[in-house]
Amino acid sequence: MRLYANIIIDISQGKLDKTFQYAVPEQMRDQLTVGAPVIVPFGNGGRTIKGFVVELTTTAEYDPAKIKEIKSLDTDAMPIESQLVTLAAWIRKHYGGTMNHALKTVIPIRQKTAEKEKKVIHLLLDKEQAMEQLLTYRRKHNTARERLLEALITQPELAYEVVTQKLHITANVIRALEEQCILRVERYRSYRNPANYEQDADYALALNPTQQEVVSSILKNAASDHPKTCLIHGVTGSGKTEVYMELIADAVAKGKQSIVLIPEIALTYQTVMRFQNRFGDRVSILNSKMSAGERFDQFERAKNGQIDVMIGPRSALFTPFSNLGYIIIDEEHEASYKSETVPRYHARETAIERARMAGATVVLGSATPSIDSYYKAVQGEYLLFEMTKRAVAKQLPVCYVVDLREELKEHNYSILSRKLEELMEDRLQKKEQIMLFLNRRGMSGFVSCRSCGYVIKCPHCDVSLSAHKNGRLVCHYCGYEREAADHCPSCGSPHISGFKAGTQKIELLVHKRFPQARILRMDTDTTKNKDGHEKILSAFANYEADILIGTQMIVKGHDFANVTLVGVLAADLSLHVGDYRASERTFQLLTQAAGRAGRGDKVGEVVIQTYDPSHYSIVAAAAQDYNAFYKQEIAYRSMLKYPPVWNMLVILLSSAVEDRCIRMAGLLARIIENTKKNDTTDRLSRLQIIGPTEPAVAKVNDIYKRVLYLKHPAYDVLVQIKDAIETYMEKNRQYQDILIQFDFNPMNGF
Ligand code: ADP
Ligand code: ZN
Ligand code: ZN
Repeated sequence: MRLYANIIIDISQGKLDKTFQYAVPEQMRDQLTVGAPVIVPFGNGGRTIKGFVVELTTTAEYDPAKIKEIKSLDTDAMPIESQLVTLAAWIRKHYGGTMNHALKTVIPIRQKTAEKEKKVIHLLLDKEQAMEQLLTYRRKHNTARERLLEALITQPELAYEVVTQKLHITANVIRALEEQCILRVERYRSYRNPANYEQDADYALALNPTQQEVVSSILKNAASDHPKTCLIHGVTGSGKTEVYMELIADAVAKGKQSIVLIPEIALTYQTVMRFQNRFGDRVSILNSKMSAGERFDQFERAKNGQIDVMIGPRSALFTPFSNLGYIIIDEEHEASYKSETVPRYHARETAIERARMAGATVVLGSATPSIDSYYKAVQGEYLLFEMTKRAVAKQLPVCYVVDLREELKEHNYSILSRKLEELMEDRLQKKEQIMLFLNRRGMSGFVSCRSCGYVIKCPHCDVSLSAHKNGRLVCHYCGYEREAADHCPSCGSPHISGFKAGTQKIELLVHKRFPQARILRMDTDTTKNKDGHEKILSAFANYEADILIGTQMIVKGHDFANVTLVGVLAADLSLHVGDYRASERTFQLLTQAAGRAGRGDKVGEVVIQTYDPSHYSIVAAAAQDYNAFYKQEIAYRSMLKYPPVWNMLVILLSSAVEDRCIRMAGLLARIIENTKKNDTTDRLSRLQIIGPTEPAVAKVNDIYKRVLYLKHPAYDVLVQIKDAIETYMEKNRQYQDILIQFDFNPMNGF
């Protein structure tokens, strides 16, 4: 059979779906892979042009007699584009979707951008004058002015956005200082490096023995033929960032580049400054506020060898560095590393594949590693490094777990336990700040007993059941259903119900109890507007409020030196969300929340309120004991055959016609069931098929949804099933109106 190659010609023109088909000459068959750079005839008149193979197929797109042959393989050094196209093919294979989806994920599109005005703030005072002014601000408790001047003293030129967004300084404060002739705001037309650093600096701390040991082991591993992925489990403040920088410095010395992935919410001014102090202007950043054009420019600079380090969220992974040394993934447990749109790739797994292709090393870091990564480390697939002590001695916060069932027994029906209330009173008096955290997620519709803490769970899946509008309780994995309970099945109490209080209600209640306190609230409502998020954080950082109430967005990445009390109002909210990662997420959130207390010089206190004080994720978080948590959690995953011990594939179907959605889900289930039955190789015998069932949100914008869950120990068996379904859908065009998406080892459930 003749083989054809679909080829894209100009990779950066945004026409990634525009491919040209060529025939593969017989002698080239074995050499040609997806991603291969080739030279092909183009147009009339014998002109040739370079292109990349994006797909190999035996189906001719038009009259085979008219299809031209590929002229030759382009044997010049393997260009970075070729690597990225190969990576796109890997993404398509492992996560589903089309090649076009995958290419668009990996390759940025060139766009003409209007030149944007850039504003830069210059310090006008010399050092001495500035220090004097700083003291004045300090004396007057002008905290915002103090912060801005302090930053300008260390770096006399700062990007305007950095000051407003990362330092949380308002335009009014900047204007006031400009009027006082302390600074000048300059406007530039030309495009500048967003990282905006003008000095050459190479400021490195002397590493402590633990850090040295970790660095030298990772360097040795990186120099080996097949470097392993490294996981650093290090408590917050143990000096992981210093380790990353040391590794990057070594790569720079060898002429290699590095990518540092940081969740956007944790990509703070301080972090960027640390990298710039070490690597000067050879650092660039990416963030979601940049336009497509700005992002493209940063990728161009990377390709042209103008930078050594790219820092950014998930998408920075595709920075076109041609000689990659390290891909570092900080806070590697964060769910934001998994894409929520097709292709639903995980940055960690994709980074490992990119590193394998490029001979680079992946370094993962976290204070609370994902169960997936820790499991791989325990299995020996990753190298594990433990950093158990803080680099700069500082006391860990004191943690109290409060049993809300006891509060109820003592007739305290308030959302605040007596302990939390008492400590809040104390902080308000001392003029220290408080954060109240509601770890709520979209679909936490679980039902629990307020007297004994009993939660109604699915007898098959050991996840909590969710209350539906019709009053019935449903399992989102297997579809198991039962009627609502009016009495607790465990203790008989009538206080059994869903948990409903939202941030707004809590704000009201707290205001009633502490009318004199100034309260800020941060949730999806109050952050809807552009910069809403930044404004609230600035206000809180400037001590314009005593109490900040919010959802999980308040516990990530922000350091407030004056916060000495953190209250977790109901730890159970993230514990019973009806998916297998609920305990893991709870442990991580509680650990992070606890980390918010006492960032300055004062010791912090944390109050965790819960109906389930003996749950291992709560006990372990309060004791800051990762290993205890891991042991319990992996036992649960193993027993119920959840990832990472087994692998899971979610097949999500959606259609505007409910009936078609239901039928198609049933049809797919039967096809998979039959494939399993007829499998003579025994590869599929352990396959488990769960559902089809309604997902948590079964109808969105009049689009109906159904899900099927497949479980199998081997990931590639699930990939094989995904391939079979994709092929089936391609051949059976009558089902085109039904959209099918795949999600491997889901992070957030459906
Ligand atoms: P992590 O990334 O693990 O949270 P960091 O690298 O941010 O830890 O270090 C925490 C704090 O300790 C930082 O303020 C950092 O400057 C400081 N630090 C880290 N390593 C050292 C060291 N070897 N000597 C002195 N201070 C250090
Ligand atoms: Zn009960
Ligand atoms: Zn179930």
